[in-house]
Amino acid sequence: MMTIRSIRPNRWPMSSMILSNLYSSNSSSAAAVQAERTIREGPRNDWTRQEIKSIYDSPVLDLLFHGAQVHRYAHNFREVQQCTLLSVKTGGCSEDCSYCPQSSRYDTGVKSQKLMNKDAVIQAAQKAKEAGSTRFCMGAAWRETVGRKTNFNQILEYVKEIREMGMEVCCTLGMLEKQQALELKAAGLTACNHNLDTSREYYPKIITTRSYDERLETLTHVREAGINVCSGGIIGLGEAEEDRVGLLHKLATLPTHPESVPINALLAVKGTPLEDQKVILIICLCEL
Ligand code: SF4
Repeated sequence: MMTIRSIRPNRWPMSSMILSNLYSSNSSSAAAVQAERTIREGPRNDWTRQEIKSIYDSPVLDLLFHGAQVHRYAHNFREVQQCTLLSVKTGGCSEDCSYCPQSSRYDTGVKSQKLMNKDAVIQAAQKAKEAGSTRFCMGAAWRETVGRKTNFNQILEYVKEIREMGMEVCCTLGMLEKQQALELKAAGLTACNHNLDTSREYYPKIITTRSYDERLETLTHVREAGINVCSGGIIGLGEAEEDRVGLLHKLATLPTHPESVPINALLAVKGTPLEDQKVILIICLCEL
């Protein structure tokens, strides 16, 4: 799987002259007001839920326009990063995430596989590099890596080797303890993905085998180890709009914002508890 992410140079603060040129349209939606403020003052972490909701409720074309303005200010809009994601250990997961065909609790036809061996993983990374990817992400269907010392050491080895190939490396391995995060950092890991999935309120309807706070704890361990954080969520889980606002609010008020925020749309898979969920409209993705 290939993903594209923006690359962020730091361009704050911005001159008031450029700002007045950008916002001469006298638009007064929350999206316009907060975009102007963000460009003027830089990112902040003290958002209220009401502020996030007001932005979310802004007219969608305002959201696109002003979101693009902030994006173009914060990123080189002509530059993207191509990343390749490989599932290095598929299926057989003990967790009960209602959307996931890799959970061993659901009959989805996904076969449980062991961790891929080093040659296969390095070969896939090499192929990704040749295809233009500069970041290689490895995903493993585990609740956590505690108690999987052998597998964890293998992952450390993969991280080191891929870094030596000159690529950035990201992992999604389930929950991480502080020590594991430190070991991944020492191996050269660039970023770690661990999604919050949805709002704190809706979360227990989707997953019961680990808590929202455990997820946040993993993010803290990753951040404190000096690894970039990749954390977002999924829409189309049957959540209310308020839950989407809740997810955004949580991410926006983390002490340091995640470097990457993946927003996924549910792909309902037969056999999972969410198999009958309707496909989400593209406009819902735009709102986030
Ligand atoms: S922890 Fe990951 S692999 Fe396991 S069921 Fe949840 S989403 Fe699927």
